[in-house]
Amino acid sequence: MDKQLLAMLVCPLCKGKLKYDRDAGELHCLYDGLAYPIQDDIPVMLPDEARKMDADEKLPTSPGRTGEA
Ligand SMILES: [Zn+2]
Repeated sequence: MDKQLLAMLVCPLCKGKLKYDRDAGELHCLYDGLAYPIQDDIPVMLPDEARKMDADEKLPTSPGRTGEA
């Protein structure tokens, strides 16, 4: 992901800053609890396509996370 591009991206719902999760390949809006997928290096900024994050995922970096390979 391009860092400059990343800095320009905001959540389409709340216009808040997004957190890039490199491992998951997702952009996280911690305010809405939504994870936007990145497909072929292109962020899919559609709330309909976004995955609802679990409550514990909303906290910054949870090392014990499992599933969703
Ligand atoms: Zn948001």
